[in-house]
Amino acid sequence: MARLVMKFGGTSVADVARIHAVAERVAATVAQGQAVAVVVSAMARVTNELVALTRSVAPLHDAREYDAVAATGEQVSAALLAMALQSLGISARSWLGWQIPIRTSGAHGSARIQRIDTRELETRLARGEVPVVAGFQGLGPRGRITTLGRGGSDTTAVALAAVLGAERCDIYTDVDGVYTADPRIVPGARKLDKVTFEEMMELASSGAKVLQIRSVELAMNYRVRVQVLSSFGDAPGTLIVDEGEIVEKQVVSGIASSREEARITVLGVPEGVRAAARVFGPLADANINVDMIALTLGPDGRSASVTFTVPRNELALTLHTLEGARRAIGFEAMEHDASVAKISVIGVGMRSHAGVASRMFKALAQKGIAVAAVSTSEVKISALIPEAYLELAVRSLHTAYGLDAAAT
Ligand code: ADP
Ligand code: ASP
Ligand code: MG
Repeated sequence: MARLVMKFGGTSVADVARIHAVAERVAATVAQGQAVAVVVSAMARVTNELVALTRSVAPLHDAREYDAVAATGEQVSAALLAMALQSLGISARSWLGWQIPIRTSGAHGSARIQRIDTRELETRLARGEVPVVAGFQGLGPRGRITTLGRGGSDTTAVALAAVLGAERCDIYTDVDGVYTADPRIVPGARKLDKVTFEEMMELASSGAKVLQIRSVELAMNYRVRVQVLSSFGDAPGTLIVDEGEIVEKQVVSGIASSREEARITVLGVPEGVRAAARVFGPLADANINVDMIALTLGPDGRSASVTFTVPRNELALTLHTLEGARRAIGFEAMEHDASVAKISVIGVGMRSHAGVASRMFKALAQKGIAVAAVSTSEVKISALIPEAYLELAVRSLHTAYGLDAAAT
């Protein structure tokens, strides 16, 4: 019997009516003769409320207790969906991470799945039972509950699909697929029928939250077929595929953006050629993730200024670390800006096309948008811009690369 993993995100289980609608969809799939395992997120907004609660009790709280709180959202939705399925005459039960168990690392708040014990699930799937698995959570070392990072139910779903040998992992959400840009920003964005693993990785890591990046990594490494589709309709979704499966490769497949950035510029760093090493050494020691970098060497090469970005929630730690290393680095001054955004254009076709970057800078310049730093990979170009211009920049680039719906 073919196996399928069906994952439903927060908006898909936002209220009782939607939970019943999800149950109907699962029941219809079971009726087609498929063995189905379901993964659910917490009901919409619940995780945000739980996170806010932990912060209001103690801003610097114990990460293990944060996980114990944050994981409760999925317990509710999984059990409610199991009930809704039972009311349709389907044999179903809820499973929490620790009950399976889904073993994870001890990195609370962003734990990694290490092992999933499938014995009990296998037995019950064989009997025709539908397991409804709480996404986002696992069992860490010493019996503690862990969570997989925001958006982590996607990762639970792909991991389960991998260990159960499922034919496909269907990610049901509030959009009917992966679009050329976030449809909330670009109303004329187009749905992609297929997108490559590599492009999806870059999109996810550049701010397209439609899939958690780790779920894409897992799908790529374990060759899981993933489809993103809507839980509110029956339109076919987007398939994440190997590059070989795409006949006509787009130079640019999508535009992504992220507000979770902060810029820091360290001015007057001595020994121009060694400036980057001086600045980034202490940051690496403090485990700070530096993303984009721009260096300006002074005219005589004796000093330099170093501009870079860090995740916005690591800005305070970064400034503190640099201040602490001020004497060792020997810089003159430092400035920062937390209202910046990163905008990225992504496409496997750019590997073999010239002029992609030039088109980006031209489009941004035409709108008067200043670029403070740039970073690239083989299939991505990112630019750092003022946050206030994010929407304008995304729309302008979408048009500049001919991605608007009317352009096809
Ligand atoms: P879920 O709760 O189902 O996990 P998410 O909110 O995590 O849903 O992800 C779906 C959202 O991702 C969409 O509502 C959309 O606004 C956003 N999104 C960002 N970029 C894209 C994109 N390129 N294609 C589709 N959706 C995108
Ligand atoms: N409920 C969790 C979150 O909001 C996990 C998920 O939705 O995937 O981040
Ligand atoms: Mg999500």
